[in-house]
Amino acid sequence: MCTSPLSLPFLSATPTFKFGKASSKVSTLRKDSSPMPRRPSSSPISVKYGVNTRDGSSAYLALSLSMVRASVHETALLGDSRLLSYTAVKCNPDPYVLRLLAALGTGFDCASHGEISQVLGVGGIDPSRIIFANPCKATSFIRQAAKMGVDMMTFDNADELYKIARVHPRAKLVIRILTDDSKSLCRLGLKFGAPLVAVPDLLAKAKELGLDVIGVSFHVGSGCYDPNAFSDAVMRARSAFDMGAEVGYKFNFLDVGGGFEDADFEDKAKVLSGAIERYFPSREGLRIIAEPGRFYVSAAFTLVANIIARRARGSSSDVITESSDSSQPSVMYYINDGVYGSFNCIMFDHQEVQPFVLTMGKSFDLERFAGTPVVPSSIWGPTCDSIDCVCPLTSLPPALEVGDYLGFRGMGAYTTCAASQFNGFQRSLVRYTSGIGPDSRAVRRALQLFAA
Ligand SMILES: *Cc1c(COP(=O)(O)O)cnc(C)c1O
Repeated sequence: MCTSPLSLPFLSATPTFKFGKASSKVSTLRKDSSPMPRRPSSSPISVKYGVNTRDGSSAYLALSLSMVRASVHETALLGDSRLLSYTAVKCNPDPYVLRLLAALGTGFDCASHGEISQVLGVGGIDPSRIIFANPCKATSFIRQAAKMGVDMMTFDNADELYKIARVHPRAKLVIRILTDDSKSLCRLGLKFGAPLVAVPDLLAKAKELGLDVIGVSFHVGSGCYDPNAFSDAVMRARSAFDMGAEVGYKFNFLDVGGGFEDADFEDKAKVLSGAIERYFPSREGLRIIAEPGRFYVSAAFTLVANIIARRARGSSSDVITESSDSSQPSVMYYINDGVYGSFNCIMFDHQEVQPFVLTMGKSFDLERFAGTPVVPSSIWGPTCDSIDCVCPLTSLPPALEVGDYLGFRGMGAYTTCAASQFNGFQRSLVRYTSGIGPDSRAVRRALQLFAA
């Protein structure tokens, strides 16, 4: 299922330039079968993003594996050396991302039998490195987890306990508690988490069924924008630990979930370590894990899309002129990925995206266009549905033509994995880069050692 990325051809190394967290002198390897552009020009843009001005048939995601590695190393900032990461697979189950994360030593948060199979299919990952972190599982999935040696799993209701007692009585259970997720874009508490008032009864029931509950988990919500959510959550987890002790359990496991973002990661890390320090002053024998999803992959992927059509709005002429009204788009651009594809994050993950120009007039020499005016524009996906709007209002230079490329940064989380093929449009594939210099070597070495 997951062929070694080492067997894929790397393009030769190229010039150096900055790429967010990790700089990248890019060597590109490809997984898709479409022909990789062969160095269409010596432009850094063409090399960095694999852009070829002749081939605009499909959009793709340019992935920097060294940026994934940089994010994983950053989670060391969470402070406690006992804190381990169990990457949330649902966010981006790309086989090479999973392989790199496995090589870097993270565990995995899986939500389904399919995800567990995929992770174990990478090879070399012990089932003890998986937490089945879906509190509401089909009985068949629990049975399959037992068969595959995955013991750690969450619950938040009594029926789940009955199911587990029946088909996986040896399981190591983690109670998922409800925390305040009102400061998050995706409020997972609407669906999951036992409120603290329900916890004593649930734990008593688990005890009665002879089940082994080892600790507590929470998720402050995905796209969390208030670091203080973590301190409130850790306080509630402390209460749940005490409730466990009342019933006779000795919890030694705390799972602080996901909800980390590039924007305020350090603030959250600080609040979280402070709260752990405060509410768990004695951490003897306590295992703490986090389940970062978005944080590991979001910035590492840049979507590269091609302008397949354009239209001057409200005009029969194709000539595009500057508009006097800046609140109304005067040009509509149609690109080859949309909200039914990678941009489903706009619908399901409440994201807003902004493009940057990669080519203009089919040229990478953007300097030539410096100072050209921009006009209010809108960007649309390729399907025949009018809901397929990627960006209702942005500013773009009117020199952009059909065949030009736009890039969209931060497209790694909750994007292609949830894309459909509505209207017959293929999902965008990934083109891989390993980064530059020492970063690139480290990525390759990690992958090599893991494959060995
Ligand atoms: C989705 C999810 C995550 C990852 O959340 P992010 O906000 O992407 O970090 C972690 N744990 C669980 C249980 C999840 O459902």
